[in-house]
Amino acid sequence: MDIHRLPVLHDNYTFLLHDSSSGIAAVVDPAEAQPVLRCLSDLKSELVSILNTHHHGDHVGGNAQLLNQFPDAVVYGGVHDRGRIPGQQVFLQEGDRISFANRQAEVFFVPGHTRAHIAYYFPPDTSEASGELFCGDTLFAGGCGRLFEGTPGQMLNSLEKLRSLPDNTRVWCAHEYTLKNLQFALTVDGQNPDLRQRIEQVEKMRSQAEATIPSELRIEKLTNPFLRWDQPALQSTTKSQDAVKTFARLRNMKDQF
Ligand code: ZN
Ligand code: FE
Repeated sequence: MDIHRLPVLHDNYTFLLHDSSSGIAAVVDPAEAQPVLRCLSDLKSELVSILNTHHHGDHVGGNAQLLNQFPDAVVYGGVHDRGRIPGQQVFLQEGDRISFANRQAEVFFVPGHTRAHIAYYFPPDTSEASGELFCGDTLFAGGCGRLFEGTPGQMLNSLEKLRSLPDNTRVWCAHEYTLKNLQFALTVDGQNPDLRQRIEQVEKMRSQAEATIPSELRIEKLTNPFLRWDQPALQSTTKSQDAVKTFARLRNMKDQF
């Protein structure tokens, strides 16, 4: 399975999963149809699945037009997004599995950004390979999504699930927010040497207009404040040792940043 990263809208990413042996493709969060159609035609491939993480327009905006071109494509989304995702046919919940080509993805229910948000995780298919996590607007490189429909406790729970995946998991999140996220991180975890090193790398990449996605879960655990609610530095910043309070305060601070 090859993964193509398509920059869409202002700062979104859509991901196209391609199986070259069978010529089929699946797309994660098509904000727009055109870039996906172009990529499919370059690859001479047929779209069989649309995998949506949540109902926001910058994640489902291309669904209808893609279905026009590929009427047999199956649209997946979370069970609680019923009625909010154009063309949705499959209503997924925690622990469900979906197939693409010779791979299977596991579904995580990760409410917080929205009340229905899900993530798709493809475990590694060989011992050397990495797993692939498509997490929409739940976990970002260096940050996490805003809480539009969920509570801090729900989001913490969701991020804890994602945090428990293997270190070498590749994190395919839906926005290029990394630099801004790390600039915030520095204000709450400024003594973290891994964070300082990362922000230098990311500044360089962004100055050359390079994408910072995918990220790796290992580096997220070391530098992303929203996976580090149990670290003394962040407990001291937020003056709390309670996980949910620490997390909620960090999220509030980021909202004001
Ligand atoms: Zn969103
Ligand atoms: Fe988004």
